[in-house]
Amino acid sequence: MDNSLIYYLEGVSCKYKKALNSALEIRKLSIKRGDIVFFVGASGVGKSTLLETLGLMNNTVVENPESKFYFFEKSPSEFTDLIDLWKKSESALSHFRKNNLSFVFQTINMFNNLSAFENVCLARIIQNKSLDDSKLKARQIMRKLFNEEAFDEIIEGKRVFELSGGQRQRLAFIRAAATDYNVLLADEPTGNLDAHNADKLMDELVGKVKMDNKTAVVVTHDIPLAMKYGNQVVLLTKNRVEENTIGGEIIPQNIFNRHQNGWLNAKKNIWSSDEVLLRYLSNGLK
Ligand code: ADP
Ligand code: MG
Repeated sequence: MDNSLIYYLEGVSCKYKKALNSALEIRKLSIKRGDIVFFVGASGVGKSTLLETLGLMNNTVVENPESKFYFFEKSPSEFTDLIDLWKKSESALSHFRKNNLSFVFQTINMFNNLSAFENVCLARIIQNKSLDDSKLKARQIMRKLFNEEAFDEIIEGKRVFELSGGQRQRLAFIRAAATDYNVLLADEPTGNLDAHNADKLMDELVGKVKMDNKTAVVVTHDIPLAMKYGNQVVLLTKNRVEENTIGGEIIPQNIFNRHQNGWLNAKKNIWSSDEVLLRYLSNGLK
């Protein structure tokens, strides 16, 4: 197996506990360490389901004999079988999540009565870091990622419910980036922002992940944003093959890797220019 992989999935069906049908079929998916992967797709196709699956959240993976779902902590020989892990206790799952993953979610789970600063500190305290370390790191990252003016105002102790939607969205990313993680999982992290601020936040998010040498998986319906910041873009399409699914599927031919001269579809060995890929992905969202 490729020694730069961090996730490897094959033949994985994602199904919600009470649902009759699967919400997403993953035929084959590998994510490399250091990749910035964007998943795009129409509403309801399974983007959030995918992140919940990669993040071992509340939907369920249906096991079949071909299913593979591995996470490589450091090397190809050192991996965690996430299907096995899923069967263990909630505390085993949360231990794994705490050590490896960081989330920026659509519904921003903040403690509204705590200040922005306290929310960021808490993310590290939950990782068993000391109070001093948590405060120091929170202060550093907030000073860097909020502009000076906003930082002073926020550090003064504005509570989360007093912040604007845009500030809250930014805070969600800052909190996620303040933890020690291997993979940052972000669900429409720029969903509530105007185009200018979306671009600015994505620039910081991707910049931070790259600087830390980490991996990011972002889902969005914003194709130009995905193509600007991703080094891999994957289209989720409505599942047309399986009857027993309510969402979409990830098929290997919908995976595009950025190269100097354009985008390569490795499965079909076809090159696309930016314009061609943009058109293809836009059609896929219809
Ligand atoms: P997207 O994020 O691309 O809009 P989702 O992943 O939220 O799509 O949804 C994919 C499919 O799974 C949809 O058909 C949706 O109705 C279904 N779904 C999402 N969340 C749940 C849930 N908690 N229980 C049952 N079905 C769900
Ligand atoms: Mg969603």
